Amino acid sequence: MATITNFINNEYTPVAGDKIPVHSPGSGKTIAHVQLSTQDQVNDAVEKAHTAFLAWSNRTVKDRVQYLIRFHQLVIKHKDELADLIVLEHGKTKEEALAEIAKGNETVEFALSLPQLILGHSLEVSRGVYCQDVRRPHGVVVSIVPFNFPFMVPMWTLPIAIATGNTFILKPSEKVPLTMNKTMELIKEAGFPEGVVNIVNGTVNTVQLLCDHPKTKAITFVGTSHVAELLSHRCRLLNKRIIALGGAKNHLIASKDCNIDMASSDIVASFTGCSGQRCMAASVLLTLGKQPELLDAIVAKAKALQPGQAGKSAMGPVIDIASRDKIVRYIEESEKAGAQILLDGRTWLKDEKLVATGGFWVGPTVILHKNKQDKALHDEIFGPVISIYECENQEEAIAIENANPYGNAACIYTNSGAIAEWFTKRFSAGMIGVNIGVPVPREPFSFGGINRSKFGDFDITGHGGMEFFTSLRKTTTKWVIPKEANWMN
Ligand code: NAD
Repeated sequence: MATITNFINNEYTPVAGDKIPVHSPGSGKTIAHVQLSTQDQVNDAVEKAHTAFLAWSNRTVKDRVQYLIRFHQLVIKHKDELADLIVLEHGKTKEEALAEIAKGNETVEFALSLPQLILGHSLEVSRGVYCQDVRRPHGVVVSIVPFNFPFMVPMWTLPIAIATGNTFILKPSEKVPLTMNKTMELIKEAGFPEGVVNIVNGTVNTVQLLCDHPKTKAITFVGTSHVAELLSHRCRLLNKRIIALGGAKNHLIASKDCNIDMASSDIVASFTGCSGQRCMAASVLLTLGKQPELLDAIVAKAKALQPGQAGKSAMGPVIDIASRDKIVRYIEESEKAGAQILLDGRTWLKDEKLVATGGFWVGPTVILHKNKQDKALHDEIFGPVISIYECENQEEAIAIENANPYGNAACIYTNSGAIAEWFTKRFSAGMIGVNIGVPVPREPFSFGGINRSKFGDFDITGHGGMEFFTSLRKTTTKWVIPKEANWMN
């Protein structure tokens, strides 16, 4: 069985030491082991990346993106193999995996435009005196990523970080290390110089070693809010640049005038896509008044989904037993609190055929709450569950959305421009949709929430990524001052 090793200086570097198993959510079987890095291995990766930095950062940005052009083409060529690995280790469907790869490659495309975007400013500020600013890379930068997008989330940072001249160390999720392990073959084939892109595997200890190493200059993190907050404090104390994206509880609001067919399809796609394991997934639906027709359409469309990992009407398993049990607990607690379970995903746990697979299956679940305090309405569940609450009016709906501590996404379904504007001006989330349940900003727009969904500065992709991975160097130059000039003219 394969052991997933580190990738340092363009070589897979196996070393003796602790390993942990990697499971396939579809079968529950162990499919590989992943190495946990020791301090020496972390130091080795940082030193190699640091050594590579001088030459890499001295190249022009036009030169650096040439490697990304080749990489982009290799990703397209190998997309099926990559997608199969994602299906195997993450559990999502092949269609979702291919979409993830295409979306990840879109951030590579954005990075290809950096030679046009990274231009600095220059101005003659006094006669004969010029101020100029240029964006310079930081040095060795680190990205720590979650399990839910094994390819796309690493691609949020890798292309922009290296195109801007940094050298890069990725710490993949220990739950899904296979996809990026394979991606490193493509990095090597694209001809990147040694030490520009590296992988260090591990868990908490590895992350802490990477953050604390004096030669790592900027850290990006994507994962749960608790860890995002911890790491942002840790890096701030070390005066390192940090962006740490956290969890989410995304609210969708349905006005009575919404298009029921479109809204119901969209809402179901939002809360069941990738089995609800998306930080932009719908998790709360607030209806303005009672809307039985909309609820019936949501239940009917969610019920039509079949357990599986291929096909447009398939929904895959969740990542592990702990996640499945957590989802079930929230359904049970809601039921005990008097909520109506309109569609019960627990039926999949009793399905003999599914039980026989050994996988971590739980079906789409629709809960109609009576009690605003129900935990399922407030906590991030990270599974295919939508919690519905019927609001008296717009004010009650916006008050619920505004009171939630997260700030990733919010969406209003309506046919009225006035209602749409009323909500979009008042939502507390950073990424807002009108009739779009997963309002992910596409390149060149930046991705990033607010409140407890993001700690640190800037956004992680697009222009935000360019700013995060560089700092402005300001140069003031004087050669010859015209005779008649004084310092202010
Ligand atoms: P996680 O926080 O458990 O793990 C994320 C990464 O941090 C992993 O690489 C893990 O090894 C490491 N890690 C875990 N605990 C740590 C600790 N105590 N100290 C240091 N490192 C630690 O998250 P996950 O379960 O892999 O991912 C799901 C979470 O990610 C959800 O909350 C989801 O909303 C969030 N997420 C957010 C975004 C966003 O853009 N805001 C995007 C994707 C996922």
